[in-house]
Amino acid sequence: MHDPHDPYVRVRGAREHNLRGVDVDIPRDVLAVFTGVSGSGKSSLAFGTVYAEAQRRYFESVAPYARRLIHQVGAPKVGEITGLPPAVSLQQRRSAPTSRSSVGTVTNLSNSLRMLFSRAGDYPPGAERLDSDAFSPNTAAGACPECHGLGQVHRTSEELLVPDPSLSIRDGAIAAWPGAWQGKNLRDILDALGHDVDRPWRELPAEQREWILFTDEQPVVTVHPVRDADRIQRPYQGTYMSARRYVMKTFSDSRSATLRAKAERFLTAAPCPACGGSRLRPEALAVTCAGRTIAELAALPLLELAGLPHGASETARVLTEDLRSRIAPVVELGLGYLSLDRATPTLSAGELQRLRLATQLRSGLFGVVYVLDEPSAGLHPADTEALLSVLERLKAAGNSVFVVEHHLEVMRGADWLVDVGPRAGEHGGQVLYSGPPEGLASVRESATARFLFDRSPVPEREVRVPIGQLKIGPVTRHNLRGVTAEFPLGVFTAVTGVSGSGKSTLIGEITEESAGVGRLVCVDQKPIGRTPRSNLATYTGLFDVVRKEFAATGQARERGYGVGRFSFNVAGGRCETCQGEGFVSVELLFLPSTYAACPDCGGARYNPETLEVTYRGRNIAQVLDLTVEAAAGFFADTPAVARSLGTLLDVGLGYLRLGQPATELSGGEAQRIKLASELQRGRRGHTLYLLDEPTTGLHPADVEVLMRQLHGLVDAGHTVIVVEHDMSVVAGADWVIDLGPGGGDAGGRIVAAGPPTEVARVTGSATAPYLARTLH
Ligand code: ADP
Ligand code: ADP
Ligand code: ZN
Ligand code: ZN
Repeated sequence: MHDPHDPYVRVRGAREHNLRGVDVDIPRDVLAVFTGVSGSGKSSLAFGTVYAEAQRRYFESVAPYARRLIHQVGAPKVGEITGLPPAVSLQQRRSAPTSRSSVGTVTNLSNSLRMLFSRAGDYPPGAERLDSDAFSPNTAAGACPECHGLGQVHRTSEELLVPDPSLSIRDGAIAAWPGAWQGKNLRDILDALGHDVDRPWRELPAEQREWILFTDEQPVVTVHPVRDADRIQRPYQGTYMSARRYVMKTFSDSRSATLRAKAERFLTAAPCPACGGSRLRPEALAVTCAGRTIAELAALPLLELAGLPHGASETARVLTEDLRSRIAPVVELGLGYLSLDRATPTLSAGELQRLRLATQLRSGLFGVVYVLDEPSAGLHPADTEALLSVLERLKAAGNSVFVVEHHLEVMRGADWLVDVGPRAGEHGGQVLYSGPPEGLASVRESATARFLFDRSPVPEREVRVPIGQLKIGPVTRHNLRGVTAEFPLGVFTAVTGVSGSGKSTLIGEITEESAGVGRLVCVDQKPIGRTPRSNLATYTGLFDVVRKEFAATGQARERGYGVGRFSFNVAGGRCETCQGEGFVSVELLFLPSTYAACPDCGGARYNPETLEVTYRGRNIAQVLDLTVEAAAGFFADTPAVARSLGTLLDVGLGYLRLGQPATELSGGEAQRIKLASELQRGRRGHTLYLLDEPTTGLHPADVEVLMRQLHGLVDAGHTVIVVEHDMSVVAGADWVIDLGPGGGDAGGRIVAAGPPTEVARVTGSATAPYLARTLH
């Protein structure tokens, strides 16, 4: 029986993904850091097991319908977990922020500011005091009536909705309409309403076209569906919705990002003329604090907003003080350059997670376990101490803090380390160590121990001589004001600076035209695809060769199966239930949609006939299930495939499965897949490679592998520019451009530029002291 006073979370028999029946005990009320090389199983343990189990229990306790959904999505594969508190995840990998979410809403700071305006604002003479809701563009009371609080007005036109007027409605003239049954339904309704759905669109009378596209009426008619090949449908009552109405409704209400994006293609946007883009109704914009409207204050950097004068009344003083104390931790985590009105989709994943973290300090929750994914991502070493202090405070409030991290300073600051390994995928999945950090020193097979305890300086390396200069600027954008930067060509350059100093803005100016080099390649961490339809094999192109091999087998030729038969993206060979995805989407209330294995093919993606064809004893689904490493052996004598696999091994991705869907890959994995496909392409002239924080998600051992690849590119005559916080990478660069000195308006200048040894000596650079420490 479980003893409620037992101070440990005890995990028994964890088998999620690559975990090999892991047993581990982690004390509650500590800062525990999960370490291990990329793909070793840290996230499978921290998120896939501990967090997922806590979520499962929570949903079972609050929502009776959840049981069925959890069954569909699958509970974590674990024998038993005892002593598990409720969990809160601050991870951001898969959340789909809505267009209305902003720094202010994520942090709740908007609420505090609205309260201040409602209770203590300066109102025009005779105006009634407004409720705090009236200052929110996201409520009916506050939203600008013209743009419904969007700040933009969206319009559509016949040209956008009907791109090809020579088509009839039946042939798909109305491009904006939904596909499948819904689209057919609308067509049948128009037919029932007496419109000619077989005449070319341009021949329909103008008033009919106008009505079909733009009416606000929603007539209901009895539809007698045309009998489709094998389906017989009964007459039903159908409601018409004009194309504009459908597009607008989908754009503003749909929970599916894909559908919203599709709807957006039929719209053009302009700032709302009524509110000037501030999204608020005029009554709210008439109220001021310290002489400014709420929209003006929301546009200020938080650091400035925190300096807002206190106001005269006691209420104003209390409310301003509350606002300041809430802003303080955000500033502390290096985010003082953000403004409340900044839309969340424009933030990096690291910024968003730190915002959530800062917000949690005021949540008053205790007795929960916070699970975080690399909170140091995007954070300059100067801000790491602040991060640790914030984690300590969460802990001091009576919580457990479980963090997946690669940053050595965060590991050193932990109370407890859980080291997973020894390597990735099937070569990992074991807990090598669980205990206080010092104890890891004696664990020989740990890849982490070597980096954590060896403090010898990086060996000196000869600095390369540039073969030219790339001049960028003058750049005036965001916080950069007329900045000119010179990037040496043919060498490895690191761009450094605190979060918000302008690094991404600066390198964003490097384009094919401005660079004047043969080719510019941006290797970013964006997903290689947003649906399970894209995967490693399709992205790198190796799947094309694999399919040819299958089509060339005697079995396939006998049956007349061509290359297309082995594609899961077109009808023919694929499983039609999931249309080759292997998964079906499950919509969970309050949660982003998740995927569950297809009930028909069980994830194989193909129909049984296709799976009967084998190549060297494996069917196509089994080949997709091979890891890169295993596939390299299997395809050793198929040069085109072997070459792709070789480059994937080179960037340390041997543990990934060929068919692993894009949706399961981390940002760092996606980035390395892109790099590998670049490497495999072979060298055609001088190429400039741009990478924004390539070490995110990578263990120091993975960083070594990645750096070997990048330096290899430079040795082959190319140019590499990285934005980086990892001082071991910066120390190994030929040239450093340091931006700052601070973030936002306090940054945006080039503080230092030169070889690492010189930059390390520049006073006034936030980077210099950390670089110096790594070099000596
Ligand atoms: P880490 O967090 O240490 O980088 P992960 O826990 O993400 O490692 O991955 C461990 C192993 O599990 C890897 O081989 C990875 O490819 C695999 N894996 C991760 N997510 C999934 C998933 N959703 N389905 C199947 N395998 C997965
Ligand atoms: P870094 O890459 O050094 O973290 P950024 O280039 O992202 O810094 O940001 C520099 C400044 O520009 C910051 O003040 C930031 O708030 C602002 N900024 C960056 N992106 C946007 C954007 N999409 N919209 C408005 N401001 C932005
Ligand atoms: Zn408006
Ligand atoms: Zn299926």
